[in-house]
This record gives sequence, C-alpha cells and structure tokens, in this order.
Amino acid sequence: MQEFDLFVIGAGSGGVRCARIAAQHGAKVGIAESRHWGGTCVNLGCVPKKLMVYAAEYGDMAADARAYGWEMQAGAHDWKKLIVAKDREIERLNHVYVSMLEKTGVSLFTGRAKFIDAHTVEIGPGPLDTDATPQRITAKNIVIATGSAPERLPIEGAELGIVSDDAFHLPERPKRICIVGSGYIGVEFAGIFAGLGSQVDLVYRQPLPLRGFDEELRMHLGNAFSDYGIRSHIATSPQRVRRRPDGALDVELNSGQTVETDCVFFATGRKPNIASLGLEAAGVRVEDGRIAVDRESATNIPGIYAIGDVTDRINLTPVAIAEGHMLAEKLFAKSEREWSFSTTPKAVFFSEPLATVGLTEEEARRKTSLIIYTAQFRPMRQTISGRSRKTFMKLIVDARTDIVLGVHMMGDAAAELMQGLAIAVTAKLSKQDFDRTIGIHPTTAEEFVTMRTPTRHVEKQN
Ligand code: NDP
Repeated sequence: MQEFDLFVIGAGSGGVRCARIAAQHGAKVGIAESRHWGGTCVNLGCVPKKLMVYAAEYGDMAADARAYGWEMQAGAHDWKKLIVAKDREIERLNHVYVSMLEKTGVSLFTGRAKFIDAHTVEIGPGPLDTDATPQRITAKNIVIATGSAPERLPIEGAELGIVSDDAFHLPERPKRICIVGSGYIGVEFAGIFAGLGSQVDLVYRQPLPLRGFDEELRMHLGNAFSDYGIRSHIATSPQRVRRRPDGALDVELNSGQTVETDCVFFATGRKPNIASLGLEAAGVRVEDGRIAVDRESATNIPGIYAIGDVTDRINLTPVAIAEGHMLAEKLFAKSEREWSFSTTPKAVFFSEPLATVGLTEEEARRKTSLIIYTAQFRPMRQTISGRSRKTFMKLIVDARTDIVLGVHMMGDAAAELMQGLAIAVTAKLSKQDFDRTIGIHPTTAEEFVTMRTPTRHVEKQN
C-alpha cells in the first residue's frame, strides 16, 4: 500500500493547485480523479462557457462591423463546428493538467476514491476508468476537493430538461430554449443562446435577476434583457414540464402562464459532490449537504481537509485555487500568507459582462453612511453601430472615511477592468486616490477616475 504525505481527492482547480504546491514543497503527493482532469472549470464550466460567450459575441460584432464600413454578413451559426473546436481545446487542457501534475512529481490515480478510514482511501472504477482494479493508499493528510454538480428542480417532468453539464454537448442548438434560474449560469447561458440566435425565455422567481448582487446593477441587467431579445418571466417558477405531441415542451409556470419551448435548461444551483465518498467511514461532518470546515479548510477530523465547492463557501474557481494553495503552504511551507476573500471580485459573462468587487449598496448602508456615484452612458463603440445598449458604472464610498467600499459595472470589458479595481478595493484606497489617478482616454474605464458629482448620499440604516 502506497503512503503519501498528502492525498487529494478530485483534480479540479482547487485540488490540482493544492497537490502541485505541496509537491513543490517536497511533500509526497497523490491525487485521484474519477471523471475529468481539470474538473468542472476546465471541462464543464468556466473555460468552455467563456469559449461559447466569445462565439455568441461574433454575431453582433459582424452586424456592427457593417456600420463601420465592412462589407460582411453574419450568416448562420454552425453549432457542431463550435462544439468540435471547443472540445479540441478542452482535450488539450486536460493533457496540460496531467503533465503539470506529473512534472511536479504528483502520483496520478484514475478512478473514484472513497474513505476506508480517516487515513485510508480506496480508488476503484469510475467514469474515466470503468475497469480500474481497486487499490488502497494511506496518507497523513487528505484533501477533499470533489466540487459540485448542477441540480434540477424537483418538479414533474424535470427529467425532460437539461443542466449546464448537458448544455456543452447538445447535438444541435435549440431554436427555442427556456432557462430556469437567474444566477450566474442562467444569465450567462441566456446571453450565449440569445447571441447564437435562439429564442430565450428566462424564468426566475425574484423580481430581479442575480440575487445577491447590487440592486441597481440587477435593475440595469433586468432592463437590458429585452435588448438582447430575451423574454423575462419574473417572480415565477415552473411547476411542471410536459412533452407535447409535436415533440416540443410546455413549461407550466405558477403564474398560470405556459412557455412553449424546445429545450428546458435548469440553472437552479449546484450541490456539493459528497455521495459515494464514504465520509461516514472517516467520521467527516456534513452540514446542510456540504462538508463543514473552519477558516483553514480543516474538517472535524484531524488530517482531513476540504476545499472548493464541496464546502459551499464562495463557489468560484479562483477561490478554490486560493484555498488549495493556502492549505498546501500551511501544511508543508508553514507560510503565513493571507488571501482577501472578503474582496473577491466576481464577474457574470453575460453578452455585456457584469463585474463587481466589495460591498453592494444594500450591504454597505448597514455598516455606514455612503456617497454613491453612478454613471450610465452609451459607449463610444455604439455611437456608429447605432445600438442603444448602455454601460452602467457605480462607486460606493464610505462617507466617513472616503474609502471605496464597492465597485459595480455592466458593460464592455467589465470583468477585465474589475481585476485592477479589486486591487484598489483590497488595498482600501479612498475616493481621493481614485480622483488623483489620471484616466486613459478615450476608454470606458476612465469614468471610474472622473466621477466628480455624487448621485446621492445614503444614511446608515440599521
Ligand atoms: P446560483 O445559485 O447562482 O443561481 C441559482 C438560480 O436558481 C437562482 O436564480 C435561484 O433563485 C434559482 N432557484 C434555486 N432554487 C429554486 C427553486 N426551488 N425554484 C425556483 N428557482 C430556484 O446557481 P447557478 O446554478 O447559476 O450557479 C452555481 C454556482 O456556480 C454559482 O453560485 C457560482 O458560484 C458558480 N458559477 C460562477 C460563474 C462565474 O464566476 N462567472 C459562472 C457559473 C457558475 P433565487 O435567487 O431566488 O434563490
């Protein structure tokens, strides 16, 4: 039986980072993966999604190029060609992940891992290797990094619908699609399918999309859906999905309305992957369906840790990577490095991306009184193309200290731009620091350093 200093279950973004950093610090490391090297982000998440977002953008770009003098037509979109090109890139990345691990001396195990006891793991057959002969290893430290999986709503006919895992491999693009849920996945795929030419119905139970984001930003997004041809069905939920005799689907909503569509897509959240891990054999505590951990990713059992989506903290790839990195350093480098999770920037890659860092106005006003700066304008690119889409930008400033508490944006390159602003918010820079920074002209980004007149003052609300 092989013995390791560290054994990681799950080779997604967090698990791979943890394994590599530990190995670089001299630990003997093993890692098991049952399904995809690189995990959700590389195979069924961030990476293929972003490639599809790019694909969707070209439709509008081709149309806009004509206004700029190019003689061109967008023509029809070839879905199969996109899927083949996307799969080729994902396959390349799978190999990159495997070779990255091998180069750092990590031992790779292909198969499904389960606990035999708190220090013993058995790796048996899994989707990647259905004939794997079970083998057991022991390790002083074990990290659970098994991620999460999308969930359907528990309603009649839900099995007729798809989830995000399926959306990456549909044999053809549905002409009509009804997306349920307006979180990250619902909003991003609404943009993708609308951009590629599908009729999109977006059904969500809140009055505004993206619960948890700044309300003014949410309003801006909610108002923009119709510009992209997306039909919103707000404050409603599906009750039943039924197949019609002609093969189409009827989605019956609790508002009494029925949406006729070709494909129902449940973007209604994800659930930590904990089944079949044998957690009871190791005594690992589970709370509300996720592995309970402390700030340092330790479970209740000494030597067993969990990182990433399986802990259901901030379920974002860079956060899982930071958690994995921090843990590996703590175990094998005794480093004191700290990461600023409270200023984790976020982006939603809708057709016009949304990005945000720091507090929303609703969160900030419970802590202090505020000065709010907002700007809404037609970006320069659209002056000639003639589109009426508006960019929205917002700064939330602490009225007492002048510190910038939150930055929110929807518009071209918002995600690219927010990464730099996240450094400013993490460094607790003040509005005065923003004001004395020279802009880059002509850009949209310069608006963040030229906002002079407050939109409103907000008193602290208890
Ligand atoms: P989210 O939690 O973001 O959104 C789930 C959506 O489903 C919400 O609109 C929610 O409504 C709705 N919903 C949940 N339960 C029900 C129900 N019973 N009836 C009706 N509606 C319901 O999950 P996603 O699936 O969109 O994404 C999962 C996670 O993946 C995200 O939280 C994010 O961490 C990550 N992700 C990040 C991306 C990025 O960084 N760009 C991209 C994609 C995913 P309500 O708001 O009312 O609860």
